[in-house]
Amino acid sequence: MMGGEGTLIERLLEMKGTRGATALTGAGVSTESGIPDFRSADGIWRNNPVELGSVLFFESCPAQFYGFWVPLFAEIAECEPNDCHRFLAELEGAQILDSVITQNIDDLHQKGGSQRVHEIHGNYRRMFCIRCRARADFDSVAEQVGAGALPTCAACGGRVRPDIVLFGEMLPESAFGAAQRAARSCRLLIALGSSLSVSPACDLVPLAASRGAEIAIVNREPTPFDHLARWKIDCELGEFGRTGLEALAAAGPAGSS
Ligand code: NAD
Repeated sequence: MMGGEGTLIERLLEMKGTRGATALTGAGVSTESGIPDFRSADGIWRNNPVELGSVLFFESCPAQFYGFWVPLFAEIAECEPNDCHRFLAELEGAQILDSVITQNIDDLHQKGGSQRVHEIHGNYRRMFCIRCRARADFDSVAEQVGAGALPTCAACGGRVRPDIVLFGEMLPESAFGAAQRAARSCRLLIALGSSLSVSPACDLVPLAASRGAEIAIVNREPTPFDHLARWKIDCELGEFGRTGLEALAAAGPAGSS
């Protein structure tokens, strides 16, 4: 076991039945599932994601916008949750974790069994019409793009877009408000797989600390908030999840104390 991993997991187990912990996750929890993180040099994001993921690009070059994002989303749709996603879902089942706040748009927490997920950057599977706000799903959009068309709303013919936060946009008030409430009220905030460099998501760490929560950071490299952490664990997140799942199994059925 690596520095602090065991004692953090022991601390989590002590919280069984209390829902006292909240998780804040970033792209690093999904790399073992095959989705490169934001700063990976060799991955799908190497083509300047800030420009390709901007609201300006969506508005000015919709065909290129969909040409880049729809195949990428189709790859994400094939990915499966890993042991880190499963561990967080089990922690929720044991009423240790209240909710997961995620910066990821990949739907893998839900696929891994988490029920209470605050998606502060949205979810690639949800689409909506920018004119009448009607919902559309990813499969119908992918079909239209595959046939060489710009995706349009079945109800009004308006343009359809993914319900994700594009660069240059504000975070959705409802999801971010819920995330702030979760950060303010938890007794332990555990940040996993995030460089904690994207604001305002990273501000949730000092917010929780200012309300007296213990902070744990699990990431393979340093973050700007390591000085606030009671536990800073440098490890691979899949391995952390496997260790946690074994500890939960050894501790007995979910919900028992
Ligand atoms: P980031 O890329 O800035 O940071 C990821 C961190 O995780 C890095 O510090 C990296 O060293 C660490 N890491 C990666 N794999 C790891 C592993 N297996 N074990 C331990 N540590 C690991 O990601 P961020 O902080 O989430 O910010 C990136 C932004 O881009 C977010 O806003 C997010 O919405 C978006 N994004 C989402 C996805 C996704 O949905 N899966 C993927 C890439 C980017």
